[in-house]
Amino acid sequence: MPTREELQQRLDRISNLFASIVAHADEQSTWRCPYKNRFDRCTAQFGCRNKRKAGAAGELPLCIGDDKLDYRPAWE
Ligand code: SF4
Repeated sequence: MPTREELQQRLDRISNLFASIVAHADEQSTWRCPYKNRFDRCTAQFGCRNKRKAGAAGELPLCIGDDKLDYRPAWE
């Protein structure tokens, strides 16, 4: 049976892990559009200048945003 101190150490480790994940997500959201999935496809339901038609029917449109500039002015 873990002691109270051991449980607190585990909780602190988990809290630190989540804090670093949240910090990374915060930083990444400043340059990667939240509508861009991991396959560089756009999931947004509105117009955007970075959106390009998919090659095959049923595929999501491609996102040509370079993740270097602020993506928000491209939204229509
Ligand atoms: S096309 Fe526009 S809305 Fe879609 S993922 Fe790219 S930047 Fe975001």
